[in-house]
Amino acid sequence: MQTEKKIDLTKERPDPDCPNCKGVGYLINAENKAEICICLLKSRAIVYLTPEYVAANTLRELDVTEYEKKNIFMLGPQAAFKMLVKSILLNTGMIYTHKTVPTFELLRIYLAASSANQAEAIQWNEILNVDILILYLVFDTPNKLYGSIIRSVIEKRKFQSKYTWIYSDKHFETEAFQKLYSTELGEFLKTSVVSGFFKKVNLAE
Ligand SMILES: [Zn+2]
Repeated sequence: MQTEKKIDLTKERPDPDCPNCKGVGYLINAENKAEICICLLKSRAIVYLTPEYVAANTLRELDVTEYEKKNIFMLGPQAAFKMLVKSILLNTGMIYTHKTVPTFELLRIYLAASSANQAEAIQWNEILNVDILILYLVFDTPNKLYGSIIRSVIEKRKFQSKYTWIYSDKHFETEAFQKLYSTELGEFLKTSVVSGFFKKVNLAE
């Protein structure tokens, strides 16, 4: 099931100085129909996107079918990662809810949620149920639990046809990656890419 992102109407506003709509947020097109103005669309996007992606560049032309309904491992520079995520989210019409978590944060939420902490239980539920979960594997300190928790999250989400994206600046086959996130996770990703369960995307500089 796809949850529709609730847009907070109190936060989205047309630009009062917009030269196109003069701050109304809508334009009347040739067929005499109201059409949303780009300034209101931009404000809507800012409300929809989590802060990591707001300032990123956007690709206007993007074949989203390459990325929709797929588990993805993204490798490459940070800026390219943010640009791709933002472009997919916007080019699919802001219909997917999304959440980005570094692994240490994932572990913290998991441990707190298991000790019946209410706020973390809600966050854990979101991790399992958000349409697109983006795991950010960059600057963690090594922890033996990472590999099994990440795998378990991916498996649980798969059961509900939810997709997980992983971003790292290290290839999963490297020692640097496996030292941080375990050999098992490295092997799991390798097998998953071969079997087609994960799509590997090399982000360009
Ligand atoms: Zn406008």
